Amino acid sequence: MNRRYRKTIIAGNWKMNKTPTEAKTLIEDMKQQLDKDVYKYCELVLCVPFTDIQAAIKAARGSKIAIGAQNMHFEKSGAFTGEISADMLKEMGVKYVIIGHSERRQYFNETDVDCNKKIKVAIAAGLRPILCCGESLEEREQNVTMEVVRKQIKIALRDVPAEDIKKVVIAYEPIWAIGTGKTATAEQAGEVCSAIRDCLRELYGARAARAITVQYGGSMNAKNAEELLAQPDVDGGLIGGASLKAPDFVAIANASRQ
Ligand code: PEP
Repeated sequence: MNRRYRKTIIAGNWKMNKTPTEAKTLIEDMKQQLDKDVYKYCELVLCVPFTDIQAAIKAARGSKIAIGAQNMHFEKSGAFTGEISADMLKEMGVKYVIIGHSERRQYFNETDVDCNKKIKVAIAAGLRPILCCGESLEEREQNVTMEVVRKQIKIALRDVPAEDIKKVVIAYEPIWAIGTGKTATAEQAGEVCSAIRDCLRELYGARAARAITVQYGGSMNAKNAEELLAQPDVDGGLIGGASLKAPDFVAIANASRQ
């Protein structure tokens, strides 16, 4: 991480876990275990299920934990049964929204073009998108990781103006490392996050690229967080499984103190 130029963001992705009552308990436990000065080193975000948002925002009061969502629709409103809009999230007090998580791409056929529409609508509503990108195991073995990630980013950020790019967080999440217990080595994570910054530099110039938070996600845990976060271009983490246990999430937040 390079705190001189950009914020370290430690974000949890709870996926389809926790009822509102469980969310309240988990956040209260986290608040109790977090040192107040941790916020000097990182921003903390919890991306919770839609049904937990209200309880989570209430439980997070008195801390600086921001609440995020895990998805949203790309239209402002309309006949999209079962969907949630950016304005709905914003009015509830949501600050961040994950866009293009690999599970959404895999199970719900989300494309880079969908991500592009969602990012623009999220920014217009005042939300900070966390754009996920990352290669499959096959793509890594075929040695096309950088091409895959560059394509995802270039399409997802198409027509996102320079003045808005700092609001976007990028999460590099190799698909083979998500929920598998197989973490990318610190070198692998650092190498791709650095290539992502090169791509952002080509698109937006050196100054903007230096200011964008690029997270790593994929089986980050209390044990490996420090090494991953020590990479100069890894500015935080998007954390699934380990964000469901207060001591683990708190330990990862503490690892950003280095
Ligand atoms: C994720 O869901 O974005 C993720 C990285 O999950 P896990 O930490 O469980 O691999």
